[in-house]
Amino acid sequence: MSSREDSVDGATPARQKLLCMFGKHRPRNRQASWDGTAYISRCEDCDRPIRRVGRHKWRIDEERAED
Ligand SMILES: [Zn+2]
Repeated sequence: MSSREDSVDGATPARQKLLCMFGKHRPRNRQASWDGTAYISRCEDCDRPIRRVGRHKWRIDEERAED
């Protein structure tokens, strides 16, 4: 018999996604890089590229999100 495994597929827990849904992204390790225009980092929760748009405000960096 072949056993089937439930593939987790690296899904982010819902409670973490919730913050991201409301735009509450957090830079990983509170670190960010200056790319010449804005501070960029990756979200602690959703692991997507983010760009700082204001004090404590981060948004998904659409241009980098597609890899
Ligand atoms: Zn996020």
